[in-house]
Formats: sequence, structure tokens, C-alpha cells
Amino acid sequence: MSEPLLEFRGVRAAYEEVEVIHGIDATFEEGVVTAVLGANGAGKSTLLALAVGIMGPSEGEVRFAGAKVRAGSTSALARQGLCLIPEGRGVFPNLTVRENLWVMTHSGRGRRHVEQAAFERFPRLEERRDQHAGTLSGGEQQMLALARAVATNPRLLLLDELSMGLAPLVVEELYRHVVSLAAEGITVVVVEQFARTALSVAATAMVMANGRIIQTGVADEVESVLQSAYLGSAQPAEGDPPSLNGTSGHTDAGAGDPQA
Ligand code: ATP
Repeated sequence: MSEPLLEFRGVRAAYEEVEVIHGIDATFEEGVVTAVLGANGAGKSTLLALAVGIMGPSEGEVRFAGAKVRAGSTSALARQGLCLIPEGRGVFPNLTVRENLWVMTHSGRGRRHVEQAAFERFPRLEERRDQHAGTLSGGEQQMLALARAVATNPRLLLLDELSMGLAPLVVEELYRHVVSLAAEGITVVVVEQFARTALSVAATAMVMANGRIIQTGVADEVESVLQSAYLGSAQPAEGDPPSLNGTSGHTDAGAGDPQA
């Protein structure tokens, strides 16, 4: 069997002295869209930080494309095709749309190429090309973040809470882009607090709780387990998305679910 594109082997990780990831073994196969789900504080963002070398494990190892990920090697990993869109979108608010795209020319492509690729995929960005990114709508900022990521020709795209704070229809539109990126051969990991949207595009899913993976499986199977777990704790109001923290699907962040 071929080696997974991304792999966690017995990974533990801590902030200062406090361990928050308690021994994770997980594989992410090339060409597969995987959803990583879990409530607030489950450790999802930390898992991504470990994947891209923003932080290193205290035990175990992370491997990308067959090589060990070293803490601090984020630029080298980016050049090898590992791309993270962090929670909060990761665009430069004081730069225009075009300037945000031009930053990505460090990946070796020219300005015109980067712009063309972005505007073909996201025509709305072209309409707003000279607007400061900070004044774009939340959905447009995520489009810009996706466009910037695609400009680096990623092999593995990690998306942290793509839907955060966005209206359901906007989330649906963004996820359609994720589906087409996956169809073009980019391996995608979507990290979401709310399950349904991510599960609708994922083939496999992992559920995290308290720094551990508590379930891995085919996305459909994981969804049915999540639903029954949810219904077992509290009856949601009609239309509420299932949440992994046993509360209703509404949070301060307002992350909605287009399929709810
Ligand atoms: P969310 O969906 O709320 O972002 P998450 O599943 O991504 O949650 P993490 O952000 O990975 O969870 O957090 C896992 C644990 O690590 C939490 O207990 C959190 O408080 C803690 N943590 C995260 N970042 C830091 C940090 N910079 N310093 C100290 N503790 C942190």
C-alpha cells in the first residue's frame, strides 16, 4: 500500500507544560477529502499546527509525503505543497485583492498567472480586485484565501473552520469550490466544528475530543453516529445543525450549516 500523504504517529503535544494532544495516530490518504470534526478546544487547530510545523510534537512524529515534519519548517513544507488556510482566513486586510494575490508569487509564478488563475475560479474577486481585503465580505475573504492557496499549487490543503461566521449559502458556495479543488487532484482536510457541511464533501472523517481521536470512518457512518449521539443528549430545535459539543448548533461565532 502506498504511504499516506500525511501521517501522525503517536503524537503528543503541549502548550508550555500543558499537554493538549494525548497520543494521536492518524493517516490522511492522497486524493481523499477528510473531515476532522470536534467541539471547541478538542485539539483540531493544534493538529493542523503540528501538520505544518508551526509547532512540534512532544512525543511521536508527523510525516508529510514520506518525510518527517520538523517544527519551524513551514516555508519548506509550503514549497513542497503543504498549504494551511488558518481559522480567520489568513489574508492581509490592508492589501488589495490583487496585492494579496501577488504575495503568492513567491511560489515561483508570475503576477499575471496568479491573478488569472484566481479570477477564472472566483470572478467576484476580479470585480473587487482593487478593494482592500479587510473590506471584503467574510465569504469573499475566504474565496481570496482559497485563491491564494491555489496559487501555490498545493498538494495538500488544510482548511481550518472555513465556515466560521458565514451565512449558510456562502458556506455552500465555498464548499462547492472545495469539491472542485478536490476533483482537480488536491488532497483536502477540512476542519470544522459543525459536522454536516464538512461531511457532505468528505469521504472519510475523524472525530476529536479532548485531544484524542475518538472515531474514524467513512463520512456517512460517522454522521449517523454523531446524529444519534446528539439526539441522545438534547433535542435540537428543528433546523438546528448537529453540534459535537452537545449544545444547539448556534454559537457566538455564528457558524451556520447550509444543509440544516
Ligand atoms: P476551536 O474549534 O475552538 O478552534 P480546536 O478543536 O481547534 O478548537 P485547539 O485550538 O487546538 O482546539 O485547542 C486545543 C486545546 O489547546 C484547548 O484546550 C486550548 O485552550 C489549548 N490551546 C490552544 N492554543 C493554545 C495556546 N496558544 N496556548 C495555550 N493553550 C492553547
